[in-house]
Amino acid sequence: MSKRFFYYELNLLEPAIIGYGTQLDNIVKSKDYIPGSTILGLFVSLFLKKGHSIYKNKSQNYTDYFQTLFLSEKVHFYNAYPIYLTLRNNVCFCYPTPLSVFGCKYYDQSKRKPVNHHFKDYVFDVKIPDECDNTKCKSALEHKNNFVYYDDKLRQYSVCKRIDMHNSSDDDLYSFEAIEKDNRFYGFISIEDDIYNKYSDIIRDMCINTDSMRIGKAKNRGYGKVEFVSPLREKDVSFMKNTNNQNQKTLSVYCYSDVIIKNEFGQSISPIPGDLIATGLNLDISLSYWKNESVVLYNAKRGMPTEKQMTIKKGSVFIYSGDKDVDVNELPMSIGYWQNSGFGKLIYNHNRLWE
Ligand SMILES: [Zn+2]
Repeated sequence: MSKRFFYYELNLLEPAIIGYGTQLDNIVKSKDYIPGSTILGLFVSLFLKKGHSIYKNKSQNYTDYFQTLFLSEKVHFYNAYPIYLTLRNNVCFCYPTPLSVFGCKYYDQSKRKPVNHHFKDYVFDVKIPDECDNTKCKSALEHKNNFVYYDDKLRQYSVCKRIDMHNSSDDDLYSFEAIEKDNRFYGFISIEDDIYNKYSDIIRDMCINTDSMRIGKAKNRGYGKVEFVSPLREKDVSFMKNTNNQNQKTLSVYCYSDVIIKNEFGQSISPIPGDLIATGLNLDISLSYWKNESVVLYNAKRGMPTEKQMTIKKGSVFIYSGDKDVDVNELPMSIGYWQNSGFGKLIYNHNRLWE
């Protein structure tokens, strides 16, 4: 089933605490992006504000609109990642740093001459060098966290955060980490072709004349106010399936979000088996850069958190070799569990974005 994509930009009008209550000592941590599950929740509240209902009259059955938009997997709410604005106000999309990117520990984008130290995507390199190629440096290369963006070359980006102190009722001091206001994020909502005519207007309308929208924690304490920068618009997302200048028998698969896939016994597995990407091509993993993490989501139906799920961390990269030519246009843009909450999103041949 082919999909169409809506694009949006969100601007933080207040600092936002995004997370599932992860705590480090007495600091409540915040994520540095807005998960698709939070975006889905935001759209549920916009849906209600526009006067739509969740349940059919006098019953516990969902309305067709609610069922299709939020529970059917026909509409996907992607994670919203940061935007980097260049000095000329050009919008650069930030991506979770591919785990195939390594940098010198002295590489720092905020320094005046970061190019003096090594920072590169080694995805197709046979060997990752042991040390920075700056002859005066020679430090070890390491994984970089946060985000990268492309502005004529690969660069690093971290979201601006702050830590606020609060007194609780029993006078304990605790702190919230929050994303600083004025950070801007971009995201996509995909909608399957067969429901586009019936549902596209209602999605577009949800983002018009919205005031006091809030996301994250401590919403009634001056946190989490957001605005759409402009009306929702359709956008071409061909960058997710890059076809430029590729060796057709080799395919790089980059996890644009966390991915949850399970075997026949319901256990989470990694890495991604080649036949989940395409059957009949005999795709075998020839190189991989990946990590596992665990995640807990909120199950709205049961009104409680889900049990911990193991994920393949966003930024993981797998290189497959096949025995036939691969047509990336035929490959799925999304695999595995919780796809409507932003999980399982893939980008093919991502490295071509910054070569
Ligand atoms: Zn260096």
